[in-house]
Parts: sequence; structure tokens; C-alpha cells
Amino acid sequence: MIERTLFNADHEAFRDSFRKFMEKEIAPHHEAWEEQGYVDRAVWSRAGENGFLCMSLPEAYGGSDADKLYSVVQMEEIARAGFSGIGFGLHSEIVAPYILHYGTEQQKNRYLPRLASGEMVGAIAMSEPAAGSDLQGVKSTAIRQADGSYLLNGSKTFITNGWHADLVIVVAKTDPGAGAKGTSLLLVERGMPGFEKGKRLKKLGMKAQDTSELFFDNVKVPADNLLGGLAMEGRGFICLMEQLPWERLQIAISAVASAQAAIDWTVQYTKDRKVFGQTVAQFQNTRYTLAELQTEVQVARVFVDKCCELIVQGKLDTATASMAKYWCSDLQCKVMDECLQLHGGYGYMWEYPITRAYADARVQRIYGGTNEIMKEVISRGMGLGGR
Ligand SMILES: Cc1cc2nc3c(=O)[nH]c(=O)nc-3n(C[C@H](O)[C@H](O)[C@H](O)COP(=O)(O)OP(=O)(O)OC[C@H]3O[C@@H](n4cnc5c(N)ncnc54)[C@H](O)[C@@H]3O)c2cc1C
Repeated sequence: MIERTLFNADHEAFRDSFRKFMEKEIAPHHEAWEEQGYVDRAVWSRAGENGFLCMSLPEAYGGSDADKLYSVVQMEEIARAGFSGIGFGLHSEIVAPYILHYGTEQQKNRYLPRLASGEMVGAIAMSEPAAGSDLQGVKSTAIRQADGSYLLNGSKTFITNGWHADLVIVVAKTDPGAGAKGTSLLLVERGMPGFEKGKRLKKLGMKAQDTSELFFDNVKVPADNLLGGLAMEGRGFICLMEQLPWERLQIAISAVASAQAAIDWTVQYTKDRKVFGQTVAQFQNTRYTLAELQTEVQVARVFVDKCCELIVQGKLDTATASMAKYWCSDLQCKVMDECLQLHGGYGYMWEYPITRAYADARVQRIYGGTNEIMKEVISRGMGLGGR
């Protein structure tokens, strides 16, 4: 195996401490959380108390000033263990960065320390029943009133952490006639009159991850809750585009870690399982299949590690991040399918980690921009036109 050079000793020490946290606070409960359809709220508080949320935020806002690689370690560990109910990545490395990068000082002071402590759970609501890939087609509106506040109307769907969320970054049109240029981001808090949560959606996988519908019926959002203040009105789409490379890379990071875990489980399983008087691992088909998968995962890991270096240097471009997202999530699904096959009927039983990982993997090709949209982005970067 090619030695990884991405992490230093501090990152690896952090990996150990986060593993211990998962063993104590997540592993004993995750199966029950899958059955109830959401993680207990307490795990957010426990993570906050232990400094495992929003680590890359500056200390002044409750973070640890940690470089992004600590978050990469955390994502890898969650994916490796198959704890797909844990939405820390979206909270810490998608929601918080929007506020850090675009928020006013008042917004940073109000929200970031509470996200870092786990007092607030964060979500981001872009997708709507009729607008997923086509984000410019968002129908939710936030119309500025005479007193400067915004009247928010619309509905969102498929929102990760939506049911637990205390703070939701909502994508809405402040100027419905202006297309992408009329899009803004609003900070909507739990309890604002007119903001209701719909049902938690039942999913193929990621069963402990709460994924909800959100409804906004004449929600009066104070002027202070427009992300970045009035100067950022109409600039929401630009913010979304700027944040995409890191968001997409996060999917690739978890894809590679999950795929590696699946190979490791399968190596072990096939060495233990005996059929026709020999282990499944002794069949040439098994050995070649696993050799091929390990080769591809190694290639993916080297590519993703390079992308991680680039993101730390602020140099990861959108097309390359899209390549990582599409290729690694496709690979993850292929690895899960072939590893499940090598488990035989046991691979179809929920009690086996490969079964859960197979179900969890499928959405990675869909969210964060579908893999078809990734190919649109890549081909556009090649000067091939398209959307
Ligand atoms: C578990 C889960 C969690 C999610 N979490 C969030 C979240 O936290 N926040 C959030 O805002 N959203 C979230 N989403 C939504 C997700 O981002 C969207 O589902 C995704 O972007 C696709 O949109 P859609 O479902 O409307 O599919 P559609 O846009 O209707 O796509 C249907 C099909 O058409 C294809 N297609 C669309 N446009 C093109 C094109 N131009 N060229 C070729 N093919 C095309 C797609 O690739 C797809 O195969 C989540 C979704 C899931 C399932």
C-alpha cells in the first residue's frame, strides 16, 4: 500500500481520540437510532463538549483553529465505522463555514459558538420538491418588507439534520424575477412562527440520519438574519458555488473510507467462511475481485489525498472536486455491490455491516449534486459547453 503523507502525528492522535469517542458515545446506540430514524440529541451535546464539532472554526468563535485535515480524519472514521446517522460533517464543515465566510460579525458571534458547543444543530436547505439539480429553479421566496424583515414562504425536502435542526440556512429568492442573481441565504431558527418541520423521510439507507421536509408559511425573518446582511442580498448563488468544491470532496473522502472498510470486512469474512471444503477467499474469483477493488480504492485514495492537500492550500477547483465526488461515489457503490456478493446470503442480512454499507452508499451518487451533474461540470470545464 502507498504510505499516506497527508496526516501528521497530531492528526493520528486525534484519530485515536475520536475513535474512542465513537466507541463510547455512538457504537452502543447506532442500531437503536437506525430503528427510531434519528440519533439522540444528546450525541450532539456530547460531541460539542468534547470539542468534536466545528473544529476548524477560529477559537474566538468556539472552534479549535484546527486545519481541515482534522475534519477529514473525523469523516473517515465515521465512514469507516458505518455510523451514517451522524451528521457532524454537514453541521461542522458545510453549515458553519457559510456563516464564517459570509456572515456578519453579529451573526458569527450569535451562531458559531452555539454550533461548536452542540447547543444548536445546523442544516442547509436548498432542495425543494420541484428543484434539486436545477437549483436556479428554487421557488421559495423571501420578500423584503417595509421594516426590512423578509417574509419567507416555500417548502424544502430531503434536508439532512432537518428534524433536529435549530438553525437552517435556507436558499430563497429575494428577487424572484432575477434568476440566480435574485437568490439569497437566510438564517432561520427553530421556533420562528410559521416554520414547521414535516415528517422524517423513510430512506433506503442512512436510516439513523434524520432527513426531513421543512415548511415556511409567512415566516417573518429579521433583516439581521439575511446571511451577510443587506450587502449579500442576491449573492446567495455565488456563495453556494464557492462552497461546492469542499462539500463535494467531503463525499469523496467518506466514499473512499467506506469502500476500504468494506474490503477489509470482506477479506476477513471470506477467510473465515468455508464452502466446498475451502475458504471463500481461496477461490480465484474472490481473490481477483478483491485485488481489483483494492487497486481501484488505492488509486482513489491517492487522488482524494491530493485533493485534500489542494483544499488546505485553497487550490481545489470545482471540476476536480466534481471528478472526485463522481468517481469515488461510483466506486464506493461498485465495491459495496461486489463485497456484498462475496458475503452470499449473509450479505443481505441487516445485521452485517456490509448490508448497511451497501444501502448507505447509494445516496452518495445522488446528493451533493448528482453524478450526472458532476459530469456536466467536468465537461463544461473541458470547453464542451452543456448546461
Ligand atoms: C438522503 C438525502 C439527503 C439530502 N440532504 C440534503 C440537504 O441536506 N440539503 C439539501 O438541500 N438537499 C439535500 N438532498 C437533496 C439532493 O441534493 C438532491 O436529491 C439532488 O441534488 C438531486 O435532486 P433531485 O432529487 O430533485 O433529482 P432531479 O434533479 O429531479 O434529478 C433526477 C434525475 O435527472 C438527472 N438530471 C437532472 N438534471 C440533469 C442534467 N442537466 N443532465 C443530465 N441529467 C440530469 C439527475 O442526475 C437524476 O438522475 C438530499 C438528498 C437525499 C436523498
